Amino acid sequence: MIRCVPDYYNDFRCLAERCPHSCCIGWEVMVDDDTAAFYQSVPGELGQRLRQALQRDEDGAYCFPLQGGRCPFLERSGLCEVYRRLGEARTSFICRTHPRFFDDYGSRREESLCASCPEVVRLVLSRDAQFTESDWEGPSGQTPSLLNPLLRCRDRALAILRREGTPLREKLGELLLFANEVQSRIDEGEEASLPQFAEEWTAPDLPIPDERHRAEVWPHVLELLQSLECLGSDWSSLLQTGRNSGGVPLYHAPELWGQRTAVYFLFRYWLHSVWDGDVLSRAELCVLATAVTGSLSAPYPDCLRMFCREIEHCDENLEALQEAFCHRFRLIDLLGLM
Ligand code: SF4
Repeated sequence: MIRCVPDYYNDFRCLAERCPHSCCIGWEVMVDDDTAAFYQSVPGELGQRLRQALQRDEDGAYCFPLQGGRCPFLERSGLCEVYRRLGEARTSFICRTHPRFFDDYGSRREESLCASCPEVVRLVLSRDAQFTESDWEGPSGQTPSLLNPLLRCRDRALAILRREGTPLREKLGELLLFANEVQSRIDEGEEASLPQFAEEWTAPDLPIPDERHRAEVWPHVLELLQSLECLGSDWSSLLQTGRNSGGVPLYHAPELWGQRTAVYFLFRYWLHSVWDGDVLSRAELCVLATAVTGSLSAPYPDCLRMFCREIEHCDENLEALQEAFCHRFRLIDLLGLM
């Protein structure tokens, strides 16, 4: 089995008490069954408080409901009491693994870090990520038939984003056109042609959306984002500021940051389409995320962190965006965001 990770993966260290946006604030901590069972046996006053705090959510899963907006075991110092007194291995699975994501594709596992964490944002924006593969002894399932063709296509898509000397806007536009062609071949049942297609791809002329079109699309994008489940009031305020400004947002962040953001989203989501064949929506997510984070009126790292927190940690929000890409937005609308 192959394991693939970004080259900054092993550099991640939780900022713990130095973190300005602790993930233990504002989010209910889910507790896996094994850890919940262990908490039943913890002696003394800590064990008593663990058992008192442990509740079941509406789906019947164990969790620690927030107290005053914080995990009940987050100490004022910013440290985790469970970690400090019982050790990291006794924290719940989500606490031990956050902000890591794991995606299994049969004979391939991909792991990444989520940029909802400020330290991951720093890592993502600090370098042109490369993705390293190694042999891995994990359990292997059935490999989806689209995996190999879409891996070849992702390599090409990454090469488009990394091409030097081309404006970011053009690279994102080319990515959309490339994904659109890949999508057509999947829809036509021509997956076998994808590796050669990816190899022979040449950049076409991009259609250029006019200003009037851009002015029409942006309010729809902000409205869509505002209609999603909201995890933080800072995000809804930022979107409202964007809507109140009335103008057409302009991408104003460094192009290199936008490129690295696009690469981050491409690595994280492109291969999800091996399960449903919807590669175009994943490319559109990549473009939307890059355009939105670079166009809102807050420092770019904060915009990226908030976007990832709101979208990547909520399956319903990811599904709502995929639905909107399929039914509400056309390719030219996405092209007009940059
Ligand atoms: S957001 Fe990141 S750096 Fe901050 S406490 Fe959570 S994992 Fe650590």
